[in-house]
Amino acid sequence: MTELDLAPPGPGEARVRLHASGVCHSDLNAIDGTAETRCPAVLGHEGAGVVEEVGEGVSLVPGSRVMLSWLPACGRCDECQRGLGHLCAIAWEGMASGGLLDGRPRLSRDGEPVHHYSFLSTFAERAVVPAACCIPIPDGVPFEIAAIAGCAVATGTGAVWRTAGVRPGDRVAVIGCGGVGMSALLGAVAAGAQPVVAVDVAHAKLAAAEELGATHAVAWAGSAEATADLVRAASGGGVDYAIEATGRPEAALAAFLSTRARGAAVLVGIPAADATITLPALPIPRLERRILGSIYGSSRPDRDFPALLELYRRGRLPLDRLVSRRLPLDAVEDAFAAMRGDDALRVVLDLGGSA
Ligand SMILES: [Zn+2]
Ligand SMILES: [Zn+2]
Repeated sequence: MTELDLAPPGPGEARVRLHASGVCHSDLNAIDGTAETRCPAVLGHEGAGVVEEVGEGVSLVPGSRVMLSWLPACGRCDECQRGLGHLCAIAWEGMASGGLLDGRPRLSRDGEPVHHYSFLSTFAERAVVPAACCIPIPDGVPFEIAAIAGCAVATGTGAVWRTAGVRPGDRVAVIGCGGVGMSALLGAVAAGAQPVVAVDVAHAKLAAAEELGATHAVAWAGSAEATADLVRAASGGGVDYAIEATGRPEAALAAFLSTRARGAAVLVGIPAADATITLPALPIPRLERRILGSIYGSSRPDRDFPALLELYRRGRLPLDRLVSRRLPLDAVEDAFAAMRGDDALRVVLDLGGSA
């Protein structure tokens, strides 16, 4: 671990004592270069903790327990104005800078800037973040649950509820059963989808998916076509929504081929920047098959995150079952190793802090 300097919170910002951080595939994409990231940087973008200090004009009270959103929508740009805060042009531009909303990092080492990751940088004991990223959490919700709810769970459940708009009785498949895919699966089960078909290469993940409510488990059959045939057979002729949570082009093709007429492949996984997908064209008009993109579950954090935690508290969304392992901050490399393996759903870092 390394000690860094952290500037005090400026206007519209808050310093948070982090208690828990999820380890997400996007962090791994930043490490292996799949996604371009300003370096050096502190990774981590699924966090929860306690507000310690706030800057000018911030109404959050120090001592508040909060979960973090990695997308502080500006509320003013064209996308925000049409209700698409998750596509906020200002926030996405700011994210690419590796700084906060003014483009400057608050982290440094020996006077040299160290960049933020998605405004948050939660693989740390403390973070200075835009106050708009802080969503208060109720008592009784563990920090680790609030942390994963802010990325994987919001992304997966939102893809099902917000992007796709799954209704009771809709047929759903989930391709890729990691943290996001499993969250999509929980969202589909909670929404009353039937059947819910889980697809993965790893048998351990398929077994876990069945425990979480998948009605069918399909092991990746070596090709998109062969896998889609199995999904279509399991679902009685194809699904209404196939949620793709791996970012791999062959999985996107499998999602598309798994749908029935008027069905949609919902692409959630982040592909490599130069990836392309080749699809058979005829079924798009002939069967009205569709492709839907989904980022951050099309979520509005201030509205949707408290609802997620309330569903958890009422036992309707068993988010605790997504946490497969807890590690201390200095074992973050072990978390990535677990993620590259087959068995981990969500590894959570315990960042200390008093309860
Ligand atoms: Zn994430
Ligand atoms: Zn905006």
